Amino acid sequence: MLKAAVYYHPDFADKGYTTLRHRVKPGFDALQPLVNSGQIQVRTPTIDETAHALLHTTHSPELVERVISAGYHEVALLSAAGVIQAAEALAKNELDMAFCFVGSGGHHAGQNYCWGFCYYNDVAMAVNRLRQLRIPDIMIIDIDPHSGDGTRDLLAADPHIIHLNFFADEDYPYEDKNRGNYGVLIDGASDKVLAAALEEYLEREWGYNLLIVIVGHDGHCLDYGDFYLTTAFYGSFARRIKAFAAGRPVLFVLSGGSLPQVASEVIPAIIEGYIE
Ligand SMILES: [Zn+2]
Repeated sequence: MLKAAVYYHPDFADKGYTTLRHRVKPGFDALQPLVNSGQIQVRTPTIDETAHALLHTTHSPELVERVISAGYHEVALLSAAGVIQAAEALAKNELDMAFCFVGSGGHHAGQNYCWGFCYYNDVAMAVNRLRQLRIPDIMIIDIDPHSGDGTRDLLAADPHIIHLNFFADEDYPYEDKNRGNYGVLIDGASDKVLAAALEEYLEREWGYNLLIVIVGHDGHCLDYGDFYLTTAFYGSFARRIKAFAAGRPVLFVLSGGSLPQVASEVIPAIIEGYIE
């Protein structure tokens, strides 16, 4: 059986960013059947020295000051700590798959800036941890309908990172294929359109050791982003990712999305799709 875990902390719901926090507990509660049947473990992240150290090697002191002033330092660092700890467990083969809940977003946080419900770049911090653990090549697929500009800001220069970014917002042209930086603009994508756009990339051979998938249910047709996906998309996406990863470890990181009902359908669909 696949070794799968969910990283969750009640502070994500209690202290998370306003728009994002109401979906956290309903999304987690909907996983109870999978937890009760022993198909997924639940792990609780903690802010440790590694998370503190990675924060300061990833972001500028000025950004950290601004996040502290905004009141989101702890929940953002706890969110990143979960992603870091999941990445460590995957790198050490303790897990095959992990899904991280968060209290704030990460992919709009660059080295010295942040916006759009994001404060610290959880995925970039985890990538920096994976480099310390000597995982050579990492692929990041981001299907949140907003572009991952912060992730690109932090990781674009590294040729060992493939960043494949699907998005609906139009002001983000940057692509540098020589360094593994891909941007795919598909405004208003339906299930079929996004699946076809993904397939163009997933059918190719990519050299990577660990896959990170940034997934926002703001891409669901009822939620606030400009993709128009159904719940069924997320399940088939997870199955396709499993085939694509072909046994390599996969880390799913929750991104945008506000609606509790959507979270309680989409999050189990992803995890069930992957572990079934
Ligand atoms: Zn988003």
